[in-house]
Amino acid sequence: MVNIIKKNKSVYYQCEECRLIYKDKGWADKCEKWCRENRSCNLNIVKHSINKNTK
Ligand SMILES: [Zn+2]
Repeated sequence: MVNIIKKNKSVYYQCEECRLIYKDKGWADKCEKWCRENRSCNLNIVKHSINKNTK
């Protein structure tokens, strides 16, 4: 299950597997599915995360 994070009145979605955060639930879902099945990161998905911009 993707975690829902509420921060500064915005809602973010976190992949439970790799803990990356996404603004778009669709990407978080994709990431989590990928992480679970492949035990690795998919750069094409990870690049949509916002971890680099926020703490
Ligand atoms: Zn992930």
